[in-house]
Amino acid sequence: MTGALAQEATMKIQVNRIPPEGLHEEASYDPAPLDMGRLDIALREPIQVKAFIVKADPEVVVTAEIRCPLQLTCARCLAEFASTVTADAVFSYPATETDVIDITEDVRQEIILAYPMIPVCRPDCKGLCRVCGQDLNTHPCGHDQRPEAAGGSPAGENPVLR
Ligand SMILES: [Zn+2]
Ligand SMILES: [Zn+2]
Repeated sequence: MTGALAQEATMKIQVNRIPPEGLHEEASYDPAPLDMGRLDIALREPIQVKAFIVKADPEVVVTAEIRCPLQLTCARCLAEFASTVTADAVFSYPATETDVIDITEDVRQEIILAYPMIPVCRPDCKGLCRVCGQDLNTHPCGHDQRPEAAGGSPAGENPVLR
């Protein structure tokens, strides 16, 4: 599975190469620098960026479509599932003809902002039994799942088991 996509470390734009009608660029990035050390988010595939770059003197405006595949761990049932973060962003840079613009850091920031706070495999995921840990999406174990039954708080994402 190597060499499928050429991965670049950065996306750099030479201002003097941008034609008056604008420039379309595509790149894929190594996702490793986006690893925030979160155990519930794994980055295993390249990030894809499609950009339209136009000179709007005295700035260069970059309209970017960003796709970042993620492997997430559900906060309720602990199952791993694939998801994709997408973001549409517009960046502008003050620039002169001789400049080289690097959009890599801005792309990273957009993706980090789009990371899910609490990954859930599906909106109606039933999670794990508060009593015995059974995955309730597979089959119910018959235990009472109301928060008060397990002694947790009513908000109870993380009930304290006695
Ligand atoms: Zn789940
Ligand atoms: Zn149970």
